[in-house]
Amino acid sequence: MTDLTTNPFESDPHNPDDDGFHEECGVFGVWNSPDAAALTALGLHALQHRGQEASGIVSLGEKGFRSHKGLGLVGDIFGDARVMAGLPGRAAVGHNRYATAGETALRNVQPLYADFAFGGFAVAHNGNLTNALTLRRQLVRRGCLFQSSTDSEVFVHLIAISLYATVLDRLIDALKQVDGAYSLVALHDGALMGVRDPLGVRPLVLGRLGADQNNAWVLASETCALDIVGAEFVRDIEPGEIVIIDDDGVRSIKPFAETASRFCIFEYIYFARPDSVVEGTPVYEARKGIGRELAIESGVDADVVVPVPDSGVPAAMGYSKEAGIPFELGIIRNHYVGRTFIEPTDSIRHLGVKLKHSANRAMLEGKRVILVDDSIVRGTTSKKIVEMVRGAGAKEVHMRISSPPTTHSCFYGIDTPEREKLLAAKHNVEEMARIIGADSLAFISLDGLYRALGRRGRDARDPGYCDACFTGDYSIPLTDLQGHPERKPALLALNGV
Ligand code: SF4
Repeated sequence: MTDLTTNPFESDPHNPDDDGFHEECGVFGVWNSPDAAALTALGLHALQHRGQEASGIVSLGEKGFRSHKGLGLVGDIFGDARVMAGLPGRAAVGHNRYATAGETALRNVQPLYADFAFGGFAVAHNGNLTNALTLRRQLVRRGCLFQSSTDSEVFVHLIAISLYATVLDRLIDALKQVDGAYSLVALHDGALMGVRDPLGVRPLVLGRLGADQNNAWVLASETCALDIVGAEFVRDIEPGEIVIIDDDGVRSIKPFAETASRFCIFEYIYFARPDSVVEGTPVYEARKGIGRELAIESGVDADVVVPVPDSGVPAAMGYSKEAGIPFELGIIRNHYVGRTFIEPTDSIRHLGVKLKHSANRAMLEGKRVILVDDSIVRGTTSKKIVEMVRGAGAKEVHMRISSPPTTHSCFYGIDTPEREKLLAAKHNVEEMARIIGADSLAFISLDGLYRALGRRGRDARDPGYCDACFTGDYSIPLTDLQGHPERKPALLALNGV
């Protein structure tokens, strides 16, 4: 889900210390449980890493649809029993949002809800539509009144104006007009629905609860959200598949022409929670394997392997084992730093990284250190971490990165800076090492990454994964940018809509 009135490619303009990728959303849905909304709140809590700015739940009970949305963390929004009591029913859908540019207005918080002639309809979207502005412009010309500035609302209007009779046919009609990456959960009077885009870029899984919860069905972005509610993993929703879940069970249809899938390879490197199983592969194991491959490709003499917490931990463990160099927690992460707390004044803003991470001097002093991190985006955080480790007395600092150089922006649902702000888009590895102040720097190779995931290397004819942020190989058309590759969709929006 992307905000169309603000810059979707700024990591966080309010926070100059913010130098990472951000997953933009997590989705969850339940059909046929007496505790549908409570389970959805728990599921969203497990998916908090996919979006921390806002959350919403729409439930369906005997008296119709009910909705509650708020800005902040799931626990803050749904921790009040009175709020949960206001979400009755045996079906619900929910959404976590990462707001891309500070536009955290409540109107943009999902699930989006609309009353149609055929009844109520709620939808929650993880991903990004690459022709949303083009469609929005057409829809506005036809008289559609948009309530929010998110790309996801395009789905609602396309469904509203569709000439097909049933909800399902209208949804398919809408899906056939959009380009982009999307995992959707949708709820209407008769069913819960889950959809993945034809290339299956973003994840979506199906699970089932036990008899104590009516054998209810669950849809979630990741398996960690099934675990928290005690649901059994049934299967991944397949690329291009729509599942329709109602009181008769689960039906599946595939309305799109079959195409080679391109699951987001960055889910394995960073986005997914390490205890999730993604497309049949445990994320934790995948990350350790990537670390092992990184050690094979770019070994260096050193005394300790130190992860940049938290996401660098499994890769550093794999690296340490393969290299036979001890693993140590040389950097400690402070989990209780709120975003607002690190924006006091310019004069102490540079302390931000020290608030998030502290050097564990006893593990670093006098040592040759291999630092393992998952990615370098702008390079500002890497530079500060290298400085911090040197400041704690490290003799040498060798940075190892468990992804290939990020040379391109993501347009498929992950918040990344525009290309000119990506360090790897402008500099080679030696230059980057100098800029971040490391004695040496190495990234896993693209082939090495594919090997770590069980392939023989990257097959350019059928990579099997989206890896566009490393290769520029965008497999879904960037319709809104056509003819204006330098422009941002937000600017097109201002010009056109
Ligand atoms: Fe994932 Fe990168 Fe593709 Fe975006 S461009 S979907 S982050 S692999």
